[in-house]
Amino acid sequence: MHHRTFISHLECSRSGERLPAGQVANLSPQGAPLLVRYDLDGARRELDKGTIHAGVGSMWRYAPLLPLSDPDNLVTLGEGLTPLIRANRLARRVGMRTLLVKDDGANPTGTFKARGMACAVSMAKELGARELAAPSAGNAGGALAAYAARAGLRAHVFMPRDVPRANIVECQVMGAQVTLVDGLISDCGRIVAQRATEEGWFEVSTLKEPYRIEGKKTMGLEIAEQLGWRLPDAIVYPTGGGVGMIGMWKAFEELGALGWIGEKRPKMIAVQASGCAPIVRAWKDGSAVSRYWNRAATLASGLRVPKAIGDFLVLQAVRESGGAAVAVTDGEILAAGRKLAEAEGIFVAPEGAAGVAAVEQLVRERFLGCDEEVLIYNTGTGLKYLDTWDAPSVPDGGGP
Ligand SMILES: *Cc1c(COP(=O)(O)O)cnc(C)c1O
Repeated sequence: MHHRTFISHLECSRSGERLPAGQVANLSPQGAPLLVRYDLDGARRELDKGTIHAGVGSMWRYAPLLPLSDPDNLVTLGEGLTPLIRANRLARRVGMRTLLVKDDGANPTGTFKARGMACAVSMAKELGARELAAPSAGNAGGALAAYAARAGLRAHVFMPRDVPRANIVECQVMGAQVTLVDGLISDCGRIVAQRATEEGWFEVSTLKEPYRIEGKKTMGLEIAEQLGWRLPDAIVYPTGGGVGMIGMWKAFEELGALGWIGEKRPKMIAVQASGCAPIVRAWKDGSAVSRYWNRAATLASGLRVPKAIGDFLVLQAVRESGGAAVAVTDGEILAAGRKLAEAEGIFVAPEGAAGVAAVEQLVRERFLGCDEEVLIYNTGTGLKYLDTWDAPSVPDGGGP
């Protein structure tokens, strides 16, 4: 592993104000997410793609573009460098020439939340935090529990009572302190914020610390590397808090600054469930931020985020890229997931299945041409959702 990181400072995503790196940080003084900035000129002089390519077989091959200073603080279970699969049979079924599936179900803990938490927990360890806390719609909690255990730190996870059972059990078995809340992830978030202040816990809540974005940035770095340092025409991403979307967009910006990729950027397509689609509504309304979605309901628990703190960053990426935001119903999600599984042998989380349903919709509406190279990002394995996939059928509820 290349040991030197090119981190230079933290930056407020709203005002651009700079803060020093090397200390624990949550939101900026303006209350907005912080972004990690690097000395990309220095990195451009010293790094080359070949060295990265010869690196370790995990997301830590990109360590120079990640924030960790001392490799002794690395907390890893081998996350990242997941398969990029050419899905020809599925492509034919939806009327496309090329479909790619990036399968992050292959990560430790079975979801891409491992990327963000590996980075956040490594940094928490490096910066001296001892007890970590987060609200979770399920998978962030599992990943926090795993990496905290691996680091020898304590984890406190607050989850809605109705998250998939796998998420509760994995947290408990890995030794996290689990609190089930009668409410939504936003209610859990309020409780964590308050308890963290009282107890001196470090909050690793979505976008409330800067390093989960950096871990998820490796999604974009990997897509570029696995395609031979070029990008597809479109990336379809199931969007809850939007960290993955923000992370990938940041990755492309940094790769552009390094001169490792050309000018072309994919259309970034945010997929949400029709029972909770605040980003889609904001995109259609042309607003810069989303409004709280009342009575959020979908079986895709990772998408049940009624108001994301980084909504303006997601909407920015969608707009700058010429992308779109689309909603699909729970019924469409289930049908699409079965189609993908039967066609390709890839058993995905409902969130990943939403991406397949979105492609079908966008091909029908001719937003996507059948010759375009489209990448569907699968964020988790179907094995964590046996109850969902086992159900005979689901009534199509929800709507704006
Ligand atoms: C958390 C989660 C999402 C949403 O991720 P964001 O990056 O916060 O939008 C999607 N799918 C799964 C399986 C998740 O666990």
